[in-house]
Amino acid sequence: MPLRFYNTLTRREEEFVPLSAGQVGMYTCGPTVYAPPHIGNLRTFFFSDTVRRYLEFRGYRVKFVMNLTDVDDKTIRGALREGVQLGDYTQPFIDSLFRDFDRLGIRRADKHPRATDYVGQMVDIIRRLEERGIAYAADDGSVYYSIGKFADYGRLSKVDLSSARRGERVAADEYEKEDVRDFVLWKAVKPEDEQVGAVWDTPWGRGRPGWHIECSAMAMDELGETFDIHAGGVDLIFPHHEDEIAQSEGATGKPFVRYWLHGEFLLLEGDKMAKSTGNIFNLQDLIDRGVKPSSIRYLFLTAHYRSKLNFTFAALEASAEAVRRIRGTRERLKAHPDARDPGPHDQPVLHETVDGILSRFTDAMDADLNTSVALAELHALAGAVNQRLEALGANPISTAEKHAALDAFGRIDSVFGFLAVADAESTVDEGLAAWVEERIAARQAARQSRDFAAADAIRAELTERGVVVEDTAQGPRWSLAG
Ligand code: AMP
Ligand code: ZN
Repeated sequence: MPLRFYNTLTRREEEFVPLSAGQVGMYTCGPTVYAPPHIGNLRTFFFSDTVRRYLEFRGYRVKFVMNLTDVDDKTIRGALREGVQLGDYTQPFIDSLFRDFDRLGIRRADKHPRATDYVGQMVDIIRRLEERGIAYAADDGSVYYSIGKFADYGRLSKVDLSSARRGERVAADEYEKEDVRDFVLWKAVKPEDEQVGAVWDTPWGRGRPGWHIECSAMAMDELGETFDIHAGGVDLIFPHHEDEIAQSEGATGKPFVRYWLHGEFLLLEGDKMAKSTGNIFNLQDLIDRGVKPSSIRYLFLTAHYRSKLNFTFAALEASAEAVRRIRGTRERLKAHPDARDPGPHDQPVLHETVDGILSRFTDAMDADLNTSVALAELHALAGAVNQRLEALGANPISTAEKHAALDAFGRIDSVFGFLAVADAESTVDEGLAAWVEERIAARQAARQSRDFAAADAIRAELTERGVVVEDTAQGPRWSLAG
């Protein structure tokens, strides 16, 4: 089955065919670096990282670009408040962003361009738009995009701006526009911009870029005038992405992006996450409450990226349990003795199961990244492994069969990433802990059925892995030797 994505541009699921065979250029709108990202922002970055991981799983070479918006109203306001230069204000937020990415296992993009490094490219695009009569300078030195000159405006978001009458003047800081619908490309300098060093010289005078032009410039500079995938949160469809298209296509006359992918919002206990209401968590808040990065990843995967996801502590608990189970099974399989020729008791059955699981996993992900169905396949793999190990008892498993199953865990986790992610706050590896719990339960069961030989064998297994078991009045307690 071919890979298919839901393309916001056509409102249809479409087969994904990149511009150059085997290669994908992908851009996602990154964060505005004026605060640590909240867990909703992180869901969106997780989503674009998952797209990229899955494209790589499918064998594509991906150039993945995620920008950093390091000049806009909010960053300038922040720098002003703290009395520092813009770059000194944004740098700590960039550092903390990458720390969060690392902790949550969101891979770095191939390139994280900063808007402030691409002002020259922005000026070029604005100049081209001016030459084509699509941009115009106002008396104060701001430059606007003339929406009336771009016939395709509204194609992505399907907004109908005809109700806003042309030529209508609007109040406040927008009075320089010729048309209420026009948006700003370049903003004439204000004293506070000078104060924090957010100013550049241009043919239209000193000033700073509008937000939308930043993304057009970085995306086209890094990926070319036409590229494959542009991703972001649903709130960016209008006006941000609509304006990116208008600017880029207005300047080049070529299609800008072929597939537009948008991730839905994360809700917090049923409500919209908003800084204004304080209804918000960042990663550190959650880690301080004992939430594990692996549980967050798992929870994100339970919902389709185009569905709203409700973030609750109860759901996180359930996710933690699911991760524990799968990690435990993988550890049990790793620890199980294997042999190249395990003898007559062995009838390799996992190979076929594993092939079927991987093929259904791929089918689910091919269908516009149906992660919840794909997750069920990982559970099926764990179930098959558990069954097999039960059937084998103390007998060794064939080495080839063991490796086929371990490889499947690894392949699936190259996309999901919750088995590999380090749950840093825990001092004991969770996979090991789950395996120990399971073995101790099996030992208790053996003792209850007076199978002392089996119980002793399990204790020996535990000792071999450095686990010390102590039988207390409250039941067995375990710790790591050393
Ligand atoms: P910002 O740093 O505000 O530019 O936002 C960065 C990204 O986070 C954008 O792609 C937004 O669409 C996305 N975003 C903001 N709030 C949420 C939320 N509650 N859930 C998911 N994504 C969000
Ligand atoms: Zn953007």
